[in-house]
Amino acid sequence: MKRIAIIGGGISGLSAAFALEEKRKSGSPVEYVLFESNPRLGGVLVTDHVDGCIVEAGPDSFLTEKPWATDLCTKIGLGDQLIGSNDSDRKTYIVTNGKLVVMPDGLMFMVPTKIMPTVLSPLFSWRTKFRMAAEWFHPPHKATADETVAQMVERHYGPEMVDLLADPLLSGVYGGEASQLSVRSVLPRFADMESQYGSLGRAMLASRKKMKAASKGPARPLFTSLKDGMQQMIDALVARLDTNALRTTSPVESLLPQSDGNGWTVCARYKTDRFDAVIMATSAQAAASVMQSSNEKLAQELGGIQYGSSVTVTLGYDEKVRRSLPPGFGFLVPRSEGRRMLAATFVHNKFPHRAPENRAIVRCFLGGARDEQILQSSEEEILEIVRRELREIIGLNADPLFARVYKWKAAMAQYTVGHLERLQHIESLRQQLPTLALAGNGYNGIGVPDCVRSGTEAAIKVLDSMGVGLAA
Ligand SMILES: Cc1cc2nc3c(=O)[nH]c(=O)nc-3n(C[C@H](O)[C@H](O)[C@H](O)COP(=O)(O)OP(=O)(O)OC[C@H]3O[C@@H](n4cnc5c(N)ncnc54)[C@H](O)[C@@H]3O)c2cc1C
Repeated sequence: MKRIAIIGGGISGLSAAFALEEKRKSGSPVEYVLFESNPRLGGVLVTDHVDGCIVEAGPDSFLTEKPWATDLCTKIGLGDQLIGSNDSDRKTYIVTNGKLVVMPDGLMFMVPTKIMPTVLSPLFSWRTKFRMAAEWFHPPHKATADETVAQMVERHYGPEMVDLLADPLLSGVYGGEASQLSVRSVLPRFADMESQYGSLGRAMLASRKKMKAASKGPARPLFTSLKDGMQQMIDALVARLDTNALRTTSPVESLLPQSDGNGWTVCARYKTDRFDAVIMATSAQAAASVMQSSNEKLAQELGGIQYGSSVTVTLGYDEKVRRSLPPGFGFLVPRSEGRRMLAATFVHNKFPHRAPENRAIVRCFLGGARDEQILQSSEEEILEIVRRELREIIGLNADPLFARVYKWKAAMAQYTVGHLERLQHIESLRQQLPTLALAGNGYNGIGVPDCVRSGTEAAIKVLDSMGVGLAA
């Protein structure tokens, strides 16, 4: 019997456990134990039910175009629970000089692809509009070294585009800053498009044409979620795992290779246990601290991956407020506005299943790489900030029916410049330890689908290393 330890019970670790469970059920000689520090499994996927509303503490959905989360949901019996975002109402605003200005039609992740809506939009200055027109003739450019997203976007569209769009969009996804994040790691498609076409606008149009030609059937929604919230995914996964294999409230303190070179000793809560292989599915920072005593070099590289914190605040309102809120999915707040809030989502518009007809849900985001101090504020102080800024930005004066504040310390990996090189170093050190696999949001994608993929691939890797391939 081959024994595998999984360290970390977020979506990455649970996806690994599910792949191993499938293998175990099919009669292969494998067993696994999953160690999780907290009393609950699921990591940042947490859903609360308040006043008939579904309140997401962490992620509220995932990108439909990345298939791994949808595929997993289907495998665990949640196929009929998947819902799409209400894209017919998709409209996003940017706060500009204290007011909401709608993002012009045709902007594809900050790349303008339609001339008239962009020209007519009050969002951009004439200077930026000229830059956008000139961008069409941008010559192909192959960067020799990695650079920040801000450097690339500025080369194409100028600094205003970085402040108004690149920065707020990236803080929404990574909680990070365009001036720090690596273009090759977070927007590899942009780097490819620039080297092939030069102009990002022309490249985006060409890719849209190709996608249209290849796509059959109606357009898919941009975001996918679950009717009863993201926690459904965790509950369904946990229900399919071997309950004896799940050790909650079990923080792993250290991981040491066996002296005979065959396997590992896991030390959790002062008890040790032997395993043939290990999947580290925590943040890279937590992996570094667990590996510190056994492999200092690897621990140092892992510890070099930075993490940012995030705070989400959900406010519930009555029908009157619902009628008074602007249509659309919500708004982004550029840094130049001098606010603490980074973005807000009108959840009842994005996913109508989340609130009854007589309720409105506004979800606000704070923190990120620029505002780690927010974690020091009390819930009352955070609520005060959010309510003041909502009053000033959208004139929302009403008292909420309920409010929830969630703090996520060091939860969002920051793929800063040089991230890919760091990953290469990590992989070459890891290859010397074939029965160790790494999964989680610190490496090749921060979103839920990428975490599912990383957990599943880690399971395949360790099974292969022991000669028990997943396909076998
Ligand atoms: C506020 C927020 C909003 C987000 N929104 C979205 C979104 O809308 N869409 C999207 O796709 N993605 C979103 N993300 C990103 C995505 O949710 C995460 O990247 C992903 O869920 C991370 O999963 P994970 O299992 O790798 O890590 P985690 O969920 O962090 O789980 C890691 C687990 O490891 C445990 N652990 C740590 N150290 C140890 C130890 N020594 N021993 C045992 N256990 C340990 C932790 O307790 C934790 O439970 C969001 C993230 C946040 C924080």
